[in-house]
Amino acid sequence: MSNGQLAESLFALAESHPAGELRLSLLRAAYAVFDAPRELATTRRLPDTVPLDTLPTVEMLRSAASEDALQALVQRLRGPYPPGGAATRTGFLTAAQVAQFSASAHPLDPRHLRGACHFHTQASDGVATLEAMARGCVRRGASWAVVTDHTRGLACVNGLDAEGVALQRRAIAAWNRRRGDDLWLVQGLEAEILADGTLDVPRRARDGVLVVAAVHTGLAERRDYTARLLRALEEPGVWALAHPQGRLFGRRAGIRANWEVVFRAAAARGVLLEINGFPRRQDLAPPLLSLAAASGCRFLLASDAHHPRHLAFDTTAVALAAAAGIGEAAIVNFSPLEKALADRLVG
Ligand SMILES: [Zn+2]
Ligand SMILES: [Zn+2]
Repeated sequence: MSNGQLAESLFALAESHPAGELRLSLLRAAYAVFDAPRELATTRRLPDTVPLDTLPTVEMLRSAASEDALQALVQRLRGPYPPGGAATRTGFLTAAQVAQFSASAHPLDPRHLRGACHFHTQASDGVATLEAMARGCVRRGASWAVVTDHTRGLACVNGLDAEGVALQRRAIAAWNRRRGDDLWLVQGLEAEILADGTLDVPRRARDGVLVVAAVHTGLAERRDYTARLLRALEEPGVWALAHPQGRLFGRRAGIRANWEVVFRAAAARGVLLEINGFPRRQDLAPPLLSLAAASGCRFLLASDAHHPRHLAFDTTAVALAAAAGIGEAAIVNFSPLEKALADRLVG
């Protein structure tokens, strides 16, 4: 029984109960299993993060001898509401699968990563200082890093305004003077792709900055976003399209678009496609990554870290890339800085 199967059973059970304590406990148990770094079938103890009141249930499911037996148990324990959210949980790697990937030999080796890209600091919605994040990148063996705090146009977070961008630029220059040999920091921004496809960052503010552009609004709508994304790809200064699908584990399946058209345009414009390794995002999903690779796209691996600990999530991005058969040559994070940014102006 894999953690993925066990977690899915718990999600289905949770959904079959009305909102309340039991449903919440089952959901927490499902996430605890999904995030467990080892396959529970091979471990003696369940993770401490499994809520106490669900321990007997989780143990019972875990001891099912086969997938059929597991399904039968889920049927027996179910409440009267039909589960419906499974579509938002397919195509995600569990933490145990990522750990297993890292432990086995593979043509894509996380230890070869040189660049750490797309992470946040206290300047927007991260919890750590620029220094702390940079030190985290050094610890992970990176030789260059692109910090990408949110911009002010995104109303839901405390984004950078022009003054904040200038302040951060000075802090980055100071770090590079002192520790540039350990890690060269580059300023980026995570800009919002507005409803009309333009960005929330004025053009003059994009000079010397690597812009990763993303949709954060209207993600639950079922409209087609092809035009919005194509317009964004035309915007000057866009380095990468960040978490292109906008999917969120257990919550949202992501936006709709004619991905083949979007990918061809990105390849033609030289805009990178992000592989976001934040465990709840895992965006793009492997089937779309394969399509993007076949369309001639190149890729950027992102941890989307909001805490130094999260910087390790680029390993999840590596595992997704490997699942899609993408090689190191197509991923900028495996290149030295000069090569990764060969076609970009870096201030
Ligand atoms: Zn984002
Ligand atoms: Zn982000």
